[in-house]
Parts: sequence; C-alpha cells; structure tokens
Amino acid sequence: MEILITNDDGIYAEGIYALAVALKKAGNVTVVAPDTQRSAVGHAITITDPLRVTEARRNGKFFGYAASGTPADCVKLGIKAIMKKRPDLVVSGINLGGNQAYNILYSGTVSGATEGALLGIPSMAVSLDTFKNPDFGPSAEFAVKVARQMARRPLPKGTLLNVNLPNLPAKKIKGVRVTNQSRTCFNDWFEKRTDPHGNTYYWMTGDYEPKDADKASDLNALRAGYVSVTPIQFDLTDYKFLSELEGWDLH
Ligand code: MN
Repeated sequence: MEILITNDDGIYAEGIYALAVALKKAGNVTVVAPDTQRSAVGHAITITDPLRVTEARRNGKFFGYAASGTPADCVKLGIKAIMKKRPDLVVSGINLGGNQAYNILYSGTVSGATEGALLGIPSMAVSLDTFKNPDFGPSAEFAVKVARQMARRPLPKGTLLNVNLPNLPAKKIKGVRVTNQSRTCFNDWFEKRTDPHGNTYYWMTGDYEPKDADKASDLNALRAGYVSVTPIQFDLTDYKFLSELEGWDLH
C-alpha cells in the first residue's frame, strides 16, 4: 500500500514523525508536508506564488518533502508531482490539538485529508486532543489499525474519516466510539495586549462550551476518554432545504 502523509503543524513537528514511523508497518510512506507551521489555514491553496520543495531530514535520515504551501497544496503536490505511484491512502496528522465540532472547518489537518478524498483517494485525519505533554504513541498505533481497515473496506465517495484521540496512555483509553460532529460552539475571545513599542495587538484564544447535550458527538467521546472516529463529507449542500428554496421567488 502506498501512503501519502501530510500535516499542518509542519514537517518538523513531533506528530507527523510518530505517524510516519508507525505507518511504515502498513505500507510505503511518502511524506509531503508544509515547511512551517500552517495550523488553521483550512482548505487554502497557493495560486499566486510558486511552491518550493526541499528534502527534509530528521534524525540524520531523509524524511520527506517540505513544501512552501498549505496541507491541501502538499496533498496535490504529492499526488500530482512527487509520488511515482498514486497513493492508496492519504493520512494527515498527527495534529497537536483536537479537531472536533466546528474546528473541522478551520483545520488544515482535516483539509489535508479532505483534499485526498476530493482526489478520490481513501483519506483520514488524525488529531490528538491536547496542547500539553502530548503522547503520540497511541494515536500512531490507532492510525495503523484504521489504515489496515481502510485498505479492506471502501468508504463512500466523498467521505473521509476524522479521527481524534484523548491524550491518555493506551491502557487508560476507554475504547472507540463512532461519532458525529458536535454542534457545540467554540467561544473565542481576544486578549488585548501591548507590544514593546506601545502598540495594541490582539491574540485570539477560546474554549468550547462546557456542556454538549449530544451524547453521540466527537466532543463527548473525547471528554469521556474514548477515541472518536467520525465519517465526514465535503458536499455542503443542504438537501433538506432544496425543495423549500425552490418555493422562493427566485426564478
Ligand atoms: Mn495543527
């Protein structure tokens, strides 16, 4: 199995290294990832600048291709310009920080996998729900398990998997839940600060609402110590509303 790996934390992040090492058990790995931190770029692509690609080394060995673009750029580049064979699987991650609820829309990690699915390749995003003291081991092992399933079981056209793990040792993880995306809102706010020159700047931060009434959500699975696997899709049409919209005076 040919596997293309990307992320949004950059090619030198800890998470992508753990993922690439683990996925070598499931197939041939090619890493094409942003040369810098690109979190929260969503599905952006680069069209007004060239994409520079350099070989990246880690621990003294060739690790992959660092590109001056976004995760979506990297997946396109990997498939259309760098890999000799079309990949059988695209995996994006392991992200430092969960990608649940509406975060999926901003996530470069999820968009890397979405790009793979748009190009017709089975794809998944993998994220670890913490920003502190990450242990990527259980996430990397779980990614291998999912990759092996994906090699055997087809996903519907236009569907990808969004995988999130709690930051717990393998023995403390309670199990795996197949979930839906939480509808819980992220409340963000801006910290107002002053720079050394006396100018005001703002830094966005925030958190999820403390309660999510939806028992089947990704957010609740993670909060309860479970791995969350959500099938997501990128057709944004509201099919239920189509016929009502036909009734508007638009024609
Ligand atoms: Mn990230």
